Formats: sequence, C-alpha cells, structure tokens
Amino acid sequence: PAWEKRVRASARIRSRNGISVLVTGAAGFVGTHVSAALKRRGDGVLGLDNFNHYYDPSLKLARQALLERSGVYIVEGDINDEKLLRKLFDIVAFTHVMHLAAQAGVRYAMENPSSYVHSNIAGLVSLLEVCKSANPQPAIVWASSSSVYGLNTKVPFSEKDRSDQPASLYAATKKAGEEIAHTYNHIYGLSLTGLRFFTVYGPWGRPDMAYFFFTKDILKGKSIPIFEASDHGTVARDFTYIDDIVKGCLAALDTAEKSTGSGGKKRGAAQLRVFNLGNTSPVPVSDLVSILEKLLKVKAKRSIMKMPRNGDVQFTHANISYAQRELGYKPTTDLQTGLKKFVRWYLSYYGGGKKSDQ
Ligand code: NAD
Repeated sequence: PAWEKRVRASARIRSRNGISVLVTGAAGFVGTHVSAALKRRGDGVLGLDNFNHYYDPSLKLARQALLERSGVYIVEGDINDEKLLRKLFDIVAFTHVMHLAAQAGVRYAMENPSSYVHSNIAGLVSLLEVCKSANPQPAIVWASSSSVYGLNTKVPFSEKDRSDQPASLYAATKKAGEEIAHTYNHIYGLSLTGLRFFTVYGPWGRPDMAYFFFTKDILKGKSIPIFEASDHGTVARDFTYIDDIVKGCLAALDTAEKSTGSGGKKRGAAQLRVFNLGNTSPVPVSDLVSILEKLLKVKAKRSIMKMPRNGDVQFTHANISYAQRELGYKPTTDLQTGLKKFVRWYLSYYGGGKKSDQ
C-alpha cells in the first residue's frame, strides 16, 4: 500500500541525532506542534492519527498539510490496530513514542462514552502491548491531564497529592491511563513519562475549547456562557501556551531513560515519572473574555450561568516545581501574549469568521 512506501521512505530519512519518534495523535493540536518541533531539531518523526470527526476534520487535514510541508508523514490508523502498530515498529526502530492520541473533551463523554474507553484505555493498552514486545523497547512519553486531580484537590495541584475523585469520564480514563502505565513499567520494564497538561491553548488549537469558541462567538455577536461557582466563586483555569507545552514535551523525551526490558521481559527497574505542565498562574474565565474582547475589538455578550456543570472543576492551578527541577520546565508566555498569537492565527486562518461556520 501507498502508506507503507511513505513509511519506508520516512524511515530512510535518517535522524541526525539517532532519535526516531512515533507521534500518535499527530494531526491533533498538541501533536502537530510537537511533531513540527521534533522535526525542526533533526529527530526522525512519523505520525499516526485516525482523523476522527470529534471536531472539524478539515482543521486536522490542514494541520496534516502543514506537517507534510515540513517533511512529517502521518499514517492514517487507529492505536487499537495492533497489527498496524507492529508493522510500523518492524519498519522503523523507534527509540521513543510520544503518545498524544486520545479522546479529549469533558462534555462529549455524555454523548459518546465508549470513544473514551476505546482511545484512552483500550488504545493505550494496545500501544503498550506493542511497545513492550518491540526490540528495542522505546521510551514512552504520554499525555495525561490536569483533570486527574478531580474534586477536592489542594491548590496548587501537586503530583504528590493522589486525588481519587475524577469529575468526568474523561478524567477517569486519563487517571486509568496512569494506573495502566504503572503496571507496564512494573512488569515489563517500560520507561514511561506522563505529562499532566493544564488547559493548552494557541494557534491551530481545538475548536471545542472555550477560548476558541468564545473567539468565534464574540466575532459573530453571539452570547457566550460564563460559568460562576454556585457560591459566586471564580471559575479559573491555568491556561498554558502551546510553545511552553512543546518545550516540556521535548525535555521529557530528552531526559527519558531507556526501557530496561527486552522483547516483553523485564530486566531491571525502569523509569516512571509523572509531571505537571502548567503555567502556575490561573486566570478567571471572565478575564479571558476581557482579553479576547480587547484583541478582537468587539464587545462580548456575556451570559452568566451557575456551576456546577457536570464534569467541570472550578479551578485548576499547577505546582510545577517537580517539572522545573527535573525537566528545566519554565513557562514564559502569559495569557495576554499567547492569546494575541492565537487571535492573529485565527483571523488569518478563518479570514474573520468565514470558515468557522463549518
Ligand atoms: P486533539 O483532539 O486535537 O488531538 C488528539 C488526536 O488524536 C486527534 O487528531 C485525533 O484524531 C487522534 N486520535 C484520537 N483517538 C485516536 C485513536 N484511537 N487512534 C489514533 N488517533 C486517535 O487533542 P489535543 O488537545 O492535541 O490533546 C493531545 C493530548 O493531550 C490528548 O491526550 C489530551 O487528552 C491531552 N490533553 C490536552 C489538553 C489540552 O488542553 N489541549 C489538556 C490536558 C490533556
């Protein structure tokens, strides 16, 4: 098949530094940025994505075209397809896997719960099964989420705090992913690094996220829902700019130790780490709207609603001292600066709102 020729061709493009990375979810928001950054610095990169229709598939195709121009090929396939994964590992001896494919979003779980189990649980197991028997076994960096902290976690959220009250099915499947990773590390000696991203935003972002559809609705003059806690407390998010997240992902990959098993057998204790990647500076959602109003030069129609909305937490705030110490992670983009870049991209991509009708 044509894809196999393309994979063989990408495998022949030798990475300058001996690193070959399989990026799952490469047509996604974070996956596109991470793949491009890996390629820029000379790593071998192959993408995998099932191009599902959770949100506007034309945006995924546009990201794919962008990556294609920089020399990154994306195989269309599902992480649950073990046969396909084994074939990819036969062709390319991946040293690392950057696992970003997942069913994201908190509210969609009410409409389509099985897609969360399919991608975030079964898909992860399928990928780890293949990694465990690959030779060499790759080191794996995967996306967890700030949502694993759930309800009643002390603020700022610290990795040491083991919260066990997920507020949504999405959170529960992400938390299950961390437990599953633990077993593959323990039994098979796989090197695993989990990254708990905190509300990532930026150019090429996800249309289901608030900053994105607020922008669209402000431009259209539609009213936007702003949620307030039932006690009138602030609803805030630790918005983290995509370039900071990409730096954290690359640092996690660079500091990952090799897996210690081989061909499914464990040899010695392998690395298992979980880091917060946030901005350490939560911003109320109403302030997010004020910044967007100024950047778009359009007054928003606000409609204040009461929490709780099923699945949402009131507040997120990352303690990043562990990631700072181990990864040298240091976010440098404040919300105002990051949103300015997002809005500039949004207006050039959608031309002031035309394509966003899709
Ligand atoms: P995204 O939806 O843009 O990207 C995920 C990609 O994975 C999509 O392109 C999708 O088509 C693909 N995919 C889904 N299921 C698949 C499957 N079974 N097989 C192959 N491909 C599949 O989301 P994103 O914002 O880029 O998120 C990347 C990762 O980071 C996800 O694991 C997400 O849960 C996690 N995360 C994101 C945020 C955020 O704010 N964006 C916050 C916390 C965690």
